Amino acid sequence: MTGVATDLASVQTTERGDLRAVGIIHGSLAMALSPLIDAYDHVLLDLDGCVWVADGLTSGAREALGALRSAGKSLCFITNDALLTCEEYVRKLWSLGLQASLEEVVTVGAAIQFFLAQRAARASAFVIGAPAIVRHVVDSGQRVVNGTAEAARAEVVVVAAHEGFDFAQLRTATRAVLGGAEMIAAGLDATYPAAGGPWPGTGALVAALQTATERTARNVGKPDRQIFQAALDRLGPGRTLMVGDRLDSDLGGAAAAGLDGAIVLTGVTSREQAQAAEDPRPVAIAETLHALVTA
Ligand SMILES: [Mg+2]
Repeated sequence: MTGVATDLASVQTTERGDLRAVGIIHGSLAMALSPLIDAYDHVLLDLDGCVWVADGLTSGAREALGALRSAGKSLCFITNDALLTCEEYVRKLWSLGLQASLEEVVTVGAAIQFFLAQRAARASAFVIGAPAIVRHVVDSGQRVVNGTAEAARAEVVVVAAHEGFDFAQLRTATRAVLGGAEMIAAGLDATYPAAGGPWPGTGALVAALQTATERTARNVGKPDRQIFQAALDRLGPGRTLMVGDRLDSDLGGAAAAGLDGAIVLTGVTSREQAQAAEDPRPVAIAETLHALVTA
């Protein structure tokens, strides 16, 4: 069966009688999965540039996720976006008409919280990032010293893209790192897709701090293996595909974690760039998540 089944009759009369990938979503029948997607048990999904851009879903994303769920695929959303907490991402997914549970969302903020919580001693931390990242650092047990005289002597500096980034934060972080603070990055993405075009990502802020200090940050976001492992731990055994819009974070990170990766063209990567990718090579390149899932 190909294409969209628009009514029950069209499904019942299909010659293959293969209803594995057909289900009911919002009162209508879901579409069959592409053979490529159907070969996997679990699908990891990037958010920015894959499921949505800013506050708008990519074309057909709702139907694509409905088809995956109807076919019984396990899903996990995995993002380097540090602007929201996991709970806030679940709320955003629901507000856009996508079902998701807290278990299905793995953010770089949660990965940083886990990473810091493993440290033997509680440290003072200077955080460049949105309130969500500050909350994750606090919840890890560290003492956040933003806005205090201790900030430039912090033992840990956490860097995540946010709109409030300014020179004073870069200066404070520079002094802390030169004084011996550990530098932790929420990903190294140069940009992320936003309404009207790309915005500078965490990687751009990290580059400024690395240049100022001549030190190298420890990245805890994609493409680091740890954030993928956090997702895989929740999914259990089975074949897993990572779908995202970035060659470095999504495709490269998937390969580092031993997973196949597919690239969608709704974010920052062009078809030419995706086709030129050699090591690793995407198992598929698709215009949209919807096209990948159903083509
Ligand atoms: Mg992305």
